Amino acid sequence: MNKQGIIDVVFGLQYGDEGKGKYLDMLAKEHDHEKKPKYAGIIRPQGGANAGHTLYYKGRKFVGHLLPSGMFEWYMQMLLGAHVIVDPVQLFGNRTAEPRAEKGEIVILQEDFNIDVTNRFFIAQNAKLQSPYDRIFDYAEEWIAKQAKRVKEPVGSTVRGIGPTYANDTARHGLRVGDLLYSDFEARAEALFNRQSVLLSTFYHHGLGVPVPAELLAQRIEDWWDYVYKLQPHIVAINEFVGSRLAQGQNFLSEGAQGARLDHTWANYPFVTSSNTLPSVIAQSIGVPQSYVKNVCAVLKFYESKVGGGFNPSRISNPRVEKLFQDAGNEKGATTGRLRDCGWLDMPLVRYYLRMSGANQVYIAKADICPVDKVQVVETYTTPSGQVIDGLGALPHRFSDLQNPQLKEFSGWEKEGKTLSTDFWTGLFNYFENDLLQSCGPHMKIVGVGTGPNPEDHVVC
Ligand code: GDP
Repeated sequence: MNKQGIIDVVFGLQYGDEGKGKYLDMLAKEHDHEKKPKYAGIIRPQGGANAGHTLYYKGRKFVGHLLPSGMFEWYMQMLLGAHVIVDPVQLFGNRTAEPRAEKGEIVILQEDFNIDVTNRFFIAQNAKLQSPYDRIFDYAEEWIAKQAKRVKEPVGSTVRGIGPTYANDTARHGLRVGDLLYSDFEARAEALFNRQSVLLSTFYHHGLGVPVPAELLAQRIEDWWDYVYKLQPHIVAINEFVGSRLAQGQNFLSEGAQGARLDHTWANYPFVTSSNTLPSVIAQSIGVPQSYVKNVCAVLKFYESKVGGGFNPSRISNPRVEKLFQDAGNEKGATTGRLRDCGWLDMPLVRYYLRMSGANQVYIAKADICPVDKVQVVETYTTPSGQVIDGLGALPHRFSDLQNPQLKEFSGWEKEGKTLSTDFWTGLFNYFENDLLQSCGPHMKIVGVGTGPNPEDHVVC
């Protein structure tokens, strides 16, 4: 009998944009001792086009939002799990005329990279199908929050309609991708659109005065109908699809979207994303036993960067120093282009989410970004009530209680060739590795360090 396969999970330990895409792309290239690809496919478990990862192929840049990384290896199957939100226009849209010129990710891969993923792209039948109204609801909610900012700070949504799609799904009004396989699909879609249209015009527009971008909405509805049926040939029962292959000994990668600090349940609500981002989501999203998960790798940077609303407890207090990190690290969101706030490495939150996630591996990305002579690290916080927070116990219910950071200073370092100067290895790296072993246990391993955006900019540990 064949040995069973495994799922190796990669997720972001911070706020997303850590550099998971590059590391996953490297893993996707791995081969076993018989020179066979190690992994048969890569699965996105959650989120939608509110994520973003930047990959380089033959020196050219590709920014993916919905497709998982790994598309540049011909043998890799690309899968979207049951908790993913699928926007057909984001994948297949192909408008060339201004002002609506917009190409979907699959079209960009075909036209600009000569890569056809259509025969190796699969979507769970129970993945959530986004409605063209959902982005408008996101926009409306952000508009309301901005008007009333004295009582409610905007969540800082990417305005990709992800929250409203999950809300409809939870309330059981939503569409699932598998509905496309049934003859009542159009009737179901129209029923949802009617409900959303009434809600938009009565509650949001007449009730709260939200301006509704009618022309944009009409265009989105037209685009949606033009492309939605293109999803049909890709629909699978993902539990059977992946489960049968795992049973035959094939291995899979899972690529978490966003990061642990935005987890819907375990982060700083309401400044969270609308899905669970911790690795435990993977078995739920594929419908296979959690016991298939073997390695759980957390990707993090040695500094923090954050977009969206909510308190950033380790934010660098000197704006000049923060700007150095923003510039050197190109700290702009891959999805929104928004500039991120930068902070010192937040060890209480690192420890807390590493322990919660069950990670056994860590990949340090962007270690070449060190624009200062001295770097700092937050070791602990003290809450207003005097509780010391080190991440080994509970966190306060609101992260705004993470006050009075206790900072530890290290020498900055330089990039030397493809690796980094001894200031890095004997300084912050050494401290971090020791802390990891103490706070998480001896099973923890740092598997690599990223020293630049290209796959070869990498040190194996
Ligand atoms: P993801 O969502 O976690 O995949 O991250 P993004 O792709 O949004 O953002 C990471 C950015 O950092 C991209 O522009 C990558 O090309 C870049 N990047 C990844 N790893 C490294 C690294 O080790 N060093 C540097 N300088 N850039 C990196």
